[in-house]
Amino acid sequence: MTTASLPDERTRWRCAHCGNLTRFDVTRTTRVREFWHLSMGGAPSIDEREVLEEVVEQVSCRWCGAVDRVELVSRPEFGGPDGEGPGDGGP
Ligand SMILES: [Zn+2]
Repeated sequence: MTTASLPDERTRWRCAHCGNLTRFDVTRTTRVREFWHLSMGGAPSIDEREVLEEVVEQVSCRWCGAVDRVELVSRPEFGGPDGEGPGDGGP
């Protein structure tokens, strides 16, 4: 199992193979603590959710299916790509 990094406020994912910037399949495991608020009738709603642990197991490209080519790049306002140019796999 390889772990991938989540983007932060300055970065985003990019598929180095096809250039996709916007569509990814993300497999992740999260452990959460939730505040379940139940009505007197027993219907639950979750009022608070705290992520205790999160592991991104795999990020794959929705377009070309590459699983090991998704990289972190800067967002456009920090000098990263602002369009989906072709990657090294061609257009
Ligand atoms: Zn791709």
